Amino acid sequence: MLVVMQAGASPEQISRVLDSIRALELTPHPLPGATRTAIGITGNTGAVDSRLLEVLPGVKECIRVTKPYKLASREMHSADTAFDIASTKVNSKTFTMVAGPCSLENEAMIMKTAEFLMENGVKLMRAGAFKPRTSPYAFQGMGLEGLEIFKRVKKRTGIGIVTELMDTEHAAAVEDAVDVIQIGTRNMQNFSLLKRVGLTRKPVLLKRGMSATLEEWLMAAEYVMAGGNYQVILCERGVRTFSDHSRNTLDLSVIPPAKILSHLPIFVDPSHGTGKRAFVPPMSLAALAAGADGLLVEIHPDPDRAMSDGAQSLDFPNFQKMLGSLRQIAEPLGRQMG
Ligand code: PEP
Ligand code: MN
Repeated sequence: MLVVMQAGASPEQISRVLDSIRALELTPHPLPGATRTAIGITGNTGAVDSRLLEVLPGVKECIRVTKPYKLASREMHSADTAFDIASTKVNSKTFTMVAGPCSLENEAMIMKTAEFLMENGVKLMRAGAFKPRTSPYAFQGMGLEGLEIFKRVKKRTGIGIVTELMDTEHAAAVEDAVDVIQIGTRNMQNFSLLKRVGLTRKPVLLKRGMSATLEEWLMAAEYVMAGGNYQVILCERGVRTFSDHSRNTLDLSVIPPAKILSHLPIFVDPSHGTGKRAFVPPMSLAALAAGADGLLVEIHPDPDRAMSDGAQSLDFPNFQKMLGSLRQIAEPLGRQMG
């Protein structure tokens, strides 16, 4: 249910509606808009009796939200979600670049990558400190020591950091160290982890599960938002299909329906989506053209020696070349590179 307040509703009238929702043992989510405030309601298992709220002063109307996801739906929030991360923006006019190595391997390589990115106008860096590896014998990441390195990189270069959180145990440490908490494809339906990041106040980049439908993905976003964290970025990273020409099938066709059903920004990860570095630039351009709000790209100072995902990582010159091509098509598509 969505309670729409009148344009001139006073703060006292809004608080009274919030209190009435709480008195029904439901959770109110105030959603301030350009012209009026709306209040989303979650926590109900059956229908909410709208008559109890419609009679309150300042209430314009109550609208039933028909989708199973509520806070993530356009029905509840018609405008595109926008927010800032470090010194860059996520919104429908910006194409937000995030790039960096698959794994944080050591301080020197991450510092070098951050400096390179900042020099090239890319203000967000990705890198994994906790790595979900298929083999238990593969490099698992630098863990907590990596988070300390991130803090130093941020301090020295001013870059914003995106990193994956794999379990609830490290949630507080990751929230403290970085700017965006990434939830990986393997954890898209780890509901305890989703609830935990819902309690943080850092944006969450939610990768699509490798065989998740759009509805399942939006329900996962709903878990985060139900906890009060509304800064969620969806990230398409390829799904499993019969294709053997690429690691995954990058499903750019999910972008238009995601934009219709949800107000959340959507990024694309062409690196995991293809698994091969040669395919990353064309699919990045295609993502921009398809309406994506940003990219998450793997780059490495020396991809052939990377400790993980080297085959899909661009080297610095090829990444610069790709940035140049993206800049050329961003403006005609109504986007500014951010
Ligand atoms: C990653 O971004 O390094 C990663 C492990 O991604 P995914 O969860 O999409 O496989
Ligand atoms: Mn990777």
